[in-house]
Formats: sequence, structure tokens, C-alpha cells
Amino acid sequence: MASADPVLKEALAREGAGWSLEQMDEYGHRMSSAEVYAWGFQANRNTPVLHTHDGYGHRADQVEFHPSWHSLLDLAVSHGLHSLPWEHEPGDGGYPARAAFTFLASQIEAGHFCPISMSTSVIPTLRRQPEVAAEWEPLQLSRVYDSSFQQASKKAGVLMGMGMTEKQGGSDVRSNTTRATRVDGGGPGAEHLLTGHKWFMSAPMSDAFVVLANAPGGLSCFLVPRFTPDGEVNRIHIQRLKDKLGNKSNASSEVELDEAWGRMVGEEGRGVATIIEMVAGTRLDCITGSAALMRQAVSQAIHHSAHRHAFGSPLVEKPLMLNVLADLEIETEVAVLMMMRVGGAFDRAPLDEHEAMIKRILTPVAKYWVTKRCSEVVREAIECLGGNGYVEDSIMPRLYRESPVNGIWEGSGNVIALDLVRAMAREPGAVDALQKELEAAKGSDHRLDRAIDSALESVRSPAEAEYEARRLAEGLALAAGGALLARHARPEVWEGFAASRLAADRGALYGTLPPGIAVGAIVEPAIPRH
Ligand SMILES: Cc1cc2nc3c(=O)[nH]c(=O)nc-3n(C[C@H](O)[C@H](O)[C@H](O)COP(=O)(O)OP(=O)(O)OC[C@H]3O[C@@H](n4cnc5c(N)ncnc54)[C@H](O)[C@@H]3O)c2cc1C
Repeated sequence: MASADPVLKEALAREGAGWSLEQMDEYGHRMSSAEVYAWGFQANRNTPVLHTHDGYGHRADQVEFHPSWHSLLDLAVSHGLHSLPWEHEPGDGGYPARAAFTFLASQIEAGHFCPISMSTSVIPTLRRQPEVAAEWEPLQLSRVYDSSFQQASKKAGVLMGMGMTEKQGGSDVRSNTTRATRVDGGGPGAEHLLTGHKWFMSAPMSDAFVVLANAPGGLSCFLVPRFTPDGEVNRIHIQRLKDKLGNKSNASSEVELDEAWGRMVGEEGRGVATIIEMVAGTRLDCITGSAALMRQAVSQAIHHSAHRHAFGSPLVEKPLMLNVLADLEIETEVAVLMMMRVGGAFDRAPLDEHEAMIKRILTPVAKYWVTKRCSEVVREAIECLGGNGYVEDSIMPRLYRESPVNGIWEGSGNVIALDLVRAMAREPGAVDALQKELEAAKGSDHRLDRAIDSALESVRSPAEAEYEARRLAEGLALAAGGALLARHARPEVWEGFAASRLAADRGALYGTLPPGIAVGAIVEPAIPRH
């Protein structure tokens, strides 16, 4: 429940989404029920099955999911997890509310967040082509989950995916080889036939996909639906489902487009610029997804430690275990604050240039940092449960398998760090905005002041920006995380962060907070009381 998570609850109010708390409590209550928790296990144990052909040898290209997958998506869509930002005016808290809803959802089951993420984020890209948006947006924003396989116009609601990655490269989308040939007279939203492959296309049962392909005028963006306007199944042939490390409930596919019908979205030759808003939205969701995995893992660790006795007392009373748990809790709270700050920037960006610049620069910083911290936090949390954390009866192995995905998807670490460098070079206003924000937090603690000065200096005058990109991202993450904690965290959490992360008085692994940190107080609010 949101109200059981004080960090989340306060951030919601701060970011203008306090109005969502009651609904979120209802949703959180439902998500954490035994029934929905079991759906998470069922959907990951009974993984999707691809049916390439029917019994007569005709192409079927359908994926069969366990009923629990549909139940999870039904719950998400009916609560507007895919639509909230677009149901509210900018600045009214739609984005932060959604970040919090999806944070709760992903704590229970992360895979179903993938189609939700792409479906929320597609809207700005669709709007680049108003006729296409007029046709799809009402269906896209419907709160009805309709998993039937039929033309979108006959459905009560749709979901969308994206196809950028090809065999020869995902980061370097300009190397895409899929071709698009015009089949009508041109004009806005021109009809094309697309031929080529897509190597990693998730949620293949979506109703339409935003796809990059080469038109005569260069790499362009297309909306490719599962059905053509005349009701035929579109020629999107699913070759295989990926056998992934984690993210098992969600299907990710390899696809051949064989003259698949699609409409151009945005200007010809401006495909990357058109799809980039969608990518920005899914990057926010990578932050949220990783923060959720961390929150669930650390909550499990604290819960276990509160109930498990060893050598005469509960684990949570052992000083060394408290050092580990407090260290993990600090990391998790930083992730939640970053997620909500970036969510707030998304919300206010259309109204406020400062927020637009913060969105631009803090998204790569937070994606880089939070998604990378995730695996280490989850791994250490597993150890808190001992052998019980290593078996599939607990949720922990699933969290661990899921933990690297957000670091890879939508820009792997290097690519995200380079995106920060791009923002520094091309949008000087973004660095100015971050400087303004960070400097407003200065003056209360010399450790924070130093971290901020050092991060800004590195960003202002990097010796070799590309080579140093990860160092720059790390420096800004520590400074931004510190600034958020100094303002909004409990004093003991802030002190733990400042002493260990800013003054660097710690070891290389978790559980190495220096003496004098109020570890009991840091962990205390997360100890279950029932
Ligand atoms: C679970 C999952 C779901 C996915 N779903 C989708 C989907 O629905 N649609 C879709 O289009 N894609 C999807 N992807 C693909 C994903 O977006 C790509 O895997 C990702 O963008 C990286 O591309 P790549 O795998 O080709 O790696 P590459 O681009 O080959 O990168 C390999 C490594 O090189 C690094 N690198 C790249 N360029 C540079 C550089 N200039 N300098 C230094 N290092 C560099 C990268 O950071 C990375 O570490 C999904 C991936 C996963 C794991």
C-alpha cells in the first residue's frame, strides 16, 4: 500500500499527486493480496507459448499467455497505469501518480509492466501524426483491457509495442535495415509496406507497434498494426520467442516484417526524433521498475530479519545485519526519490522550461544509477534470507533475474551515459537547470556542497567527455541523490548517505556503513508490525 511506504507517500504529495493516494491504497491493497501475489508466480512459471501456424499450416503468429498474465494486465489497465498521465493536465500530477502506481505493480510482478510502459509512452510519438493519433489514442487510453485478437476498431481497448532493435544493433538504430515502400500517394500518415526483421520486439500480442524503417527519405517512424485496414492479419511474422534470463511472464519476440502495412508517423527521415519521446517515457519506467525491485527485495530482507532468530535474538537486532539492511534501505530510498523527482519533471515539463531541462538531464542520470544499483541491492537482499532467498518459493530469485533488464533495455549503461554527454553538449540549458537545482540544496552540509561542486565542475569541463561518461553520470547521481535526501529524507537516512556515499567512508560492498550511523532508526519504519 502506498500509505505503508512513507517515502513514496510524501513524494506523491510533493510532486502534486496527493489526490491519488486513496485510489493507490486501494490498488496497493489489491496488488499485495495473496491472490495477485500468486498471479505473479503463475505468470512466470507458465511462460508464454508461440503458435507460429495453425493446424492447416497457415500463419497464426499468436502468443498464448497464462490467465494470470491477463488478470495482471486487466488490473493495471483498469487502474489507468497506461493512461494516467494523459487523463490529467500537465502539472496535475498524472506522471508522478502513475510512477507510484507502477512502482507498486512492479514490486509484485515486473513483466506485465513492459506493455504498460510502451503503451503509456507511445502517446507523444502518436501525436506527431494527428490523424493517426485521432484514430488510436481513444482506444489506447481506454481503461478496458481487451486481449482479443481482432482489428483494433472492434476492440474496447488496445496496447502498443515498439520495434527498433535489429540483429546488427539495438543502440545504433541508424544501422536499421528494414525498408519501407510507399503504397499510396503520400501525404500525412502515408501508407507503406515494411520489409525486414526486428530482433527484440516485446509484447508481440500488442495491437500495434511503433517501428523504425528506412523510407527513401531516410530512417522514419511507422505505426504498424496487427491487422490491416481491410481486416487481414498484418504480415508481422513472429519467428521465435526469446528465452530470456528473467522477465519470463512477458513475451519478447523475433519478428520478420514481410511487406507489413503501416502508416508513417512524423516526418520522413526524422524517425529517431519522432520515437525519442516514447523512448524518454520508457526510460523513466526503467527507473521505476528498478526502484520497485529494490523496494520489494529490501522489504523482504527486513521482514525476514524481523522474524528470523539466530543465536538467541531476531536477526534485525544484530548490529552487523542492521548495517547491511540500513545500507540497502538508504540505496532504495535514493532510488524512490529519484524516480519521483524525474516523474515530477515529466509532469511539469510542458509548462516549465526548468522542469523540461531537468527531465532531459536527470532521466539519463537516474536511469544510469538506479538500474545499475538494482542487481547489487537485490543480490545482497537475497543473502539476508540465507538459503531461503535462493529458492523459487520466495520471490527473490525472480527479482534477481529481473534486476539487470532495465539497465539494458532502452539504452544500456554506456549508451545512457553517452546520452548524458549529448545533453551536456547540445542542451547547455539542461546543465544550467541542474546546477540551479543542486545549488539550491547547498549550504547545509559541507559533504554535499563538495559533492555538488565536484560533479558540476566535471560536467562543465570534462577532460574527455566520452571516455569519462560513466564517471560524470555517477558524480551527478550522487550529487542529485544527496540533494534529494538532504531535503526530503529522514535525518538518519541522510546522514547514512552523506557519511558513506559522499564522504566515502565505507567499503566496496553493502553492510560497510561507518560507526555512528543510526542503523536501527533507518530500518525501523520498514519492520513489519503484524
Ligand atoms: C527484456 C528485453 C526486452 C526488450 N524489448 C525490446 C522491444 O520491445 N523493442 C526493441 O526495439 N528492443 C527491445 N529490446 C532490445 C534492447 O533495447 C537492446 O538490447 C538494447 O537497446 C541494446 O542493444 P543491443 O542488444 O543491440 O546491444 P548493442 O547495441 O550491440 O550494445 C552492446 C553494448 O555496447 C555498448 N555500446 C553501444 N554503443 C556504444 C558506444 N558508442 N560506446 C560505448 N559502448 C557502446 C552498449 O551500452 C552495450 O553495453 C529489449 C531487450 C530486453 C533485454
